[in-house]
Amino acid sequence: SNDYRVVVFGAGGVGKSSLVLRFVRGTFRENYIPTIEDTYRQVISCDKNVCTLQITDTTGSHQFPAMQRLSITKGHAFVLVYSITSRQSLEELKPIYDQIKDIKCNMDSIPVMLVGNKCDEVQHREISMQEGGELAKKWTVAHMETSAKTNHNVKELFQELLQMEKRR
Ligand code: GDP
Ligand code: MG
Repeated sequence: SNDYRVVVFGAGGVGKSSLVLRFVRGTFRENYIPTIEDTYRQVISCDKNVCTLQITDTTGSHQFPAMQRLSITKGHAFVLVYSITSRQSLEELKPIYDQIKDIKCNMDSIPVMLVGNKCDEVQHREISMQEGGELAKKWTVAHMETSAKTNHNVKELFQELLQMEKRR
């Protein structure tokens, strides 16, 4: 099928659910609702065809290890989200990245986007754009800053993942 499975990882509170809901429903909410793993399907056009993005919004670092392993095994592409307002959230991505590398063997052929969300919160920034970019370079993944709140780069994020898939 044309289903393209995207898995969204990151610490609790960085905005994973907000990014996914902004993309599939066009909505944003200020209050925090912890997520149980949830999957959304979104049909988007790619070239002359339509593709279905199947987006799995995970619970973050409190996922059961077996579930996390399974999400990685089944996923085609990965979004690793931190908040630009939290150094801790960037550090929490490291074990997830290591596990993806472990399970997927050839990382170069797997579309991965390191995403610094909440870029609207400039006054609370702890991670510079440059630092995010340098980590992405080290990991050989792509990098982008987003805001689910202002809708900055949200559509672009998912579109870019699809482009990365087609290029590989
Ligand atoms: P998750 O635990 O990673 O799924 O995080 P949520 O999507 O539930 O978001 C956690 C909190 O951050 C909520 O209060 C959201 O309203 C807020 N939030 C999410 N994205 C953004 C953003 O881009 N900018 C700002 N300022 N707040 C955000
Ligand atoms: Mg959530």
